[in-house]
Amino acid sequence: MARIYNFSAGPSMLPEEVLRQAADEMLDYNGSGMSVMEMSHRSKVYDEIIRNTEAMFRSVMAIPDNYKVLFLQGGASMQFAMVPMNLLAKNGVADYVLSGNFSQKAWEQADALAKAFGKTVNIAASTKEEKYCRIPTQKELKLAPNADYVHICSNNTIYGSAWQYIPDTGDVPLVSDMSSYILSRPVDVSRFGLIYAGAQKNIAPAGLTLVIIREDLLGEPLPGTPIMLNYATMAKNDSMYNTPPCWPIYISLLVLQWIERTGGLAAMQQRNEEKAALLYNYLDSTTFYQTGIAPEDRSIMNVTFTTGNEELDAKFAKESAAAGMSNLKGHRAVGGMRASIYNAMPRQGVEALLAFMKNFEKANG
Ligand SMILES: *Cc1c(COP(=O)(O)O)cnc(C)c1O
Repeated sequence: MARIYNFSAGPSMLPEEVLRQAADEMLDYNGSGMSVMEMSHRSKVYDEIIRNTEAMFRSVMAIPDNYKVLFLQGGASMQFAMVPMNLLAKNGVADYVLSGNFSQKAWEQADALAKAFGKTVNIAASTKEEKYCRIPTQKELKLAPNADYVHICSNNTIYGSAWQYIPDTGDVPLVSDMSSYILSRPVDVSRFGLIYAGAQKNIAPAGLTLVIIREDLLGEPLPGTPIMLNYATMAKNDSMYNTPPCWPIYISLLVLQWIERTGGLAAMQQRNEEKAALLYNYLDSTTFYQTGIAPEDRSIMNVTFTTGNEELDAKFAKESAAAGMSNLKGHRAVGGMRASIYNAMPRQGVEALLAFMKNFEKANG
């Protein structure tokens, strides 16, 4: 059975080496006589796994000591609620920048909670009127000086745009949804108060949500915040207040080891930029396909494009699938095509897509 190139936006490809190692260990992890899936999370063997995983996140991402690394569940979408529940109690004001679907969802959830608790959630900037074709500039951000935090989404998975700068928010903590951005390049964690990410794009299988939070932001949630949704509970208990997502945590360890073996995040960034450039250079050289994102704000993880003709786009999706490339149909909110080329997508996969795109243009242009 041959593997195909899976361009899914998430869950998405995992490195083949990781899958092979996991398969080899499926019946007996390291002489324990059982799979990591079957282990008590309180066992000595598993304790070592989760500690190693945290240590690897800290070393690969260069996370400063005054940050907690939390392994949670509920997806990035749960963070849309947990962030305001935990951070909005102090001054009762937060700023949200809308740059795509997920940042809009995050704002909707924060706004609903703010209304229930008599707090204020502002839209500091939005490019919605421009169909989210670009990222707001620093100058456009209307930031409240007394905000408890500013929320952004670093990479807009659906539209295919990404922040190319870290906004300056002064002393106000910056919070970012990095679900489709994390581990794609080095990030200066110290510029953020909180980073969160669903695992299923660049970290591990679905089921794990990573939260990196500066310690001084713990411990002042909205009244009535459930114990399970309080970051302080999870920080105090080393993510073991209840059963953590044991298996995805373990796979994230293997993924981090793979990143380290292949040169770390700087090398990862270089490979990712080269892969994305293969597609963007071609897209810029032809009028057959169009990409709606401002060139300076393009994502290197999610490349969106269209022929401008719905029937041709549907044909593209169908024929590319038949050629061994899956999930190239764009998100229903945007249409067209989307190639998600996360860390685990090999360069050969992008080259195969490029060749297919050229042939498709020849046959239909
Ligand atoms: C995939 C994604 C989400 C949703 O993640 P879930 O884990 O399904 O809740 C949120 N934000 C971004 C940027 C994403 O890419």
